[in-house]
Amino acid sequence: MVSSASRFLWVGHHRALDFLNTEPVQRGGRVELLPDLRGLVDWSREAGFLDGATAAGVLDRWEGSSEGASAVAQAHRLRAALRALIERPRERGAAAEDALDVLNRALRLDAGTTEVVRARAGFERRGHARIDAPAQLLGPIAEAAAGLLCDVDPELVKRCGNPDCVLYFHDTSRNHARRWCSMELCGNRMKVAAHYHRHRGG
Ligand SMILES: [Zn+2]
Repeated sequence: MVSSASRFLWVGHHRALDFLNTEPVQRGGRVELLPDLRGLVDWSREAGFLDGATAAGVLDRWEGSSEGASAVAQAHRLRAALRALIERPRERGAAAEDALDVLNRALRLDAGTTEVVRARAGFERRGHARIDAPAQLLGPIAEAAAGLLCDVDPELVKRCGNPDCVLYFHDTSRNHARRWCSMELCGNRMKVAAHYHRHRGG
């Protein structure tokens, strides 16, 4: 888990959903949490896809460059593609094939190697990024997206029960009854609203 000081949302229980959740709705409007290369690099570092030294190197070399801006635009396209593939998995046609194409192009980016390390409750993957171009930042994100689409039960990929919230999460709870992106963001608010509605008429 990442400290609460993070400006990103780590409620997805899956890195691909955390990536999708970089475009949340706050106060009724969509917010872009990856507006620039720094946002994308910071997110990748907090996600465990980049170590601190590599992250700093990427920013030193490409912050403010057109290659950096292009990588950010590609990240936005990948995120939109992932959203389409999750929300409309059975859709066929040009737009749906485009979404798959965006993902597969990102999967072809060689972005280093992965190793498995011991973690508190078992194991976790750690990436060793080798970044020769900022677009390679998309490599591990695309790998996570492929894992989500191919290995995770789609029934357990859920959107938050608050109709105003666009956040997704992988329901890893034992009885698969998780309804909210998080209690802090939506759960408590929705419970208070339900309580209010129950008692207002009574
Ligand atoms: Zn929510």
